[in-house]
Amino acid sequence: MLLNRMLMRNARYRARQTATVDEGRVRTWAEFAERVARLAGAMRELGVGVGDRVAAFGLNSDRYLEAQFATWWLGAAWTPMNTRWSGEENRLGIEDAEISLAFTDLAMKPATLAAVPESKGLPVIVMGGGEDEQLDHDRLIEASAPVDAADIGEDVLAGVYFTGGTTGRSKGVMLTHKAVWCNSLAFQGVLGLTDRASYLHAAPMFHLADGAMSSAAVMAGSAHHFVAAFRPDIVLEAIRDRRLTHALMVPTMIDMLVTAPSFSAEALAPLEYLAFGGAPSTQAAQERMIAALPNVRLLHVYGQSEMGPGVSALEPERQKIGDPKMRSVGRPIATVDVRIVGADGREADVDEPGEIWARSPGQMVGYWRRPEETAQVMVDGWVRTGDIAYADADGYLYICDRAKDMVISGGENVFSAEVERVVSLHPAVAMCAIIGVPDPLYGERVHAVLVLKDGAAVDQAELYAHCREHIAGYKCPRSIEVLDALPISGPGKVQKETLRAAHWPKAGAVAAH
Ligand code: ADP
Repeated sequence: MLLNRMLMRNARYRARQTATVDEGRVRTWAEFAERVARLAGAMRELGVGVGDRVAAFGLNSDRYLEAQFATWWLGAAWTPMNTRWSGEENRLGIEDAEISLAFTDLAMKPATLAAVPESKGLPVIVMGGGEDEQLDHDRLIEASAPVDAADIGEDVLAGVYFTGGTTGRSKGVMLTHKAVWCNSLAFQGVLGLTDRASYLHAAPMFHLADGAMSSAAVMAGSAHHFVAAFRPDIVLEAIRDRRLTHALMVPTMIDMLVTAPSFSAEALAPLEYLAFGGAPSTQAAQERMIAALPNVRLLHVYGQSEMGPGVSALEPERQKIGDPKMRSVGRPIATVDVRIVGADGREADVDEPGEIWARSPGQMVGYWRRPEETAQVMVDGWVRTGDIAYADADGYLYICDRAKDMVISGGENVFSAEVERVVSLHPAVAMCAIIGVPDPLYGERVHAVLVLKDGAAVDQAELYAHCREHIAGYKCPRSIEVLDALPISGPGKVQKETLRAAHWPKAGAVAAH
């Protein structure tokens, strides 16, 4: 009930305050809660009950938030799909999560129907479908009677959130109501969210980074504003004209914002807090951000989906040029315990790098139907993050490396194994290794190192097109290099450090692996 009570509280104590504003649609908390209870009624008629999974394909909108809360209202698990995924990835996700119902926005309807085989008779509710749509979101709300929230405990599954997989397939991070509630509480605190705040959904709502801020903003009774997708000019206009006070973005988005032709510090004057994180940012990008936004409280957050996702945050007072803590990702947030574990399994000393292990009531209960991968990551109740960091004498964490074989491009995680599997399907490729190389806009970009079959040839455009048939565009190689052989270590593993070393500067690279 924990998440449903947040809504009941708002409906009761903030009934006439604004809940959502989207394209001229303005709704109070009383209206929002009523719509959620009615939508849940319609979903129940369509067969959704406690423990079922509900998938969502869509860009940011007020309806997306309603669908999420209606799913929780019924005790079902919200399963958001990455809108950039290919048909194959969508299909695999839908099958894996065994969904009972899907939401889609109109633009994504063809992709959704392709991923949800009609033969299985899965209902698909269309957000913004209009008059002609049989299962239109708004019409269902009008036509259905409200139902009571399901009487569920805090350990019921609230969401299955897909994240990249080391074995080449995405795995679903399972979070309970307690976990989402715990993260909401922590983020509400660090972001200073109140019922006078207005939060902008600028990053994709299908990612947990926005997801956690979003439920934190519901908990606080803040107003929610939406931009369908990130466009610097539209975000600037929304913040200026609607006087929005809080937002979260990945570093690439902030860089796009402060370097946009229409940028002015004045446009962002209403903004009180801007949270950023989810991906490494370079010192230069952070300094640009600080210089461009002198009056905004910049909150650097570090986390991962497995932690629901909060791990640590740096207080805005330390996000200043010249402050030695600026390079850190701060200290563990209120609900999280952190240990830095050295290779020998003992806790690392001050300033000594090791793997970040984290523990919190906000963490996942495991990966959806992946007991083996869960056991590799969860040890004695701790989550092994795969991030290498050291802690200074004041407890500030500095991420210096990544143990997992992954590229983070513009805030999206790309697991090398998944791309390598697809690249090796190309007839010209004998061997390949995927690494992250520096990119001025995206932080890192996906780079393919190839060994070709005798007499074969392939260029970047062709390889990209081949990969795009199987996986999302952000995962496909943006640059390639051809070698006679890959450097292989004794046990037959490709030495990626050697490949990366040719691309990354020796010092100053935040994610130099
Ligand atoms: P999120 O939803 O928070 O983006 P993901 O699971 O997609 O979580 O990605 C988590 C990974 O991204 C972390 O394990 C870490 O490698 C990287 N990461 C997240 N935040 C930061 C940060 N502030 N600085 C550096 N790396 C980060």
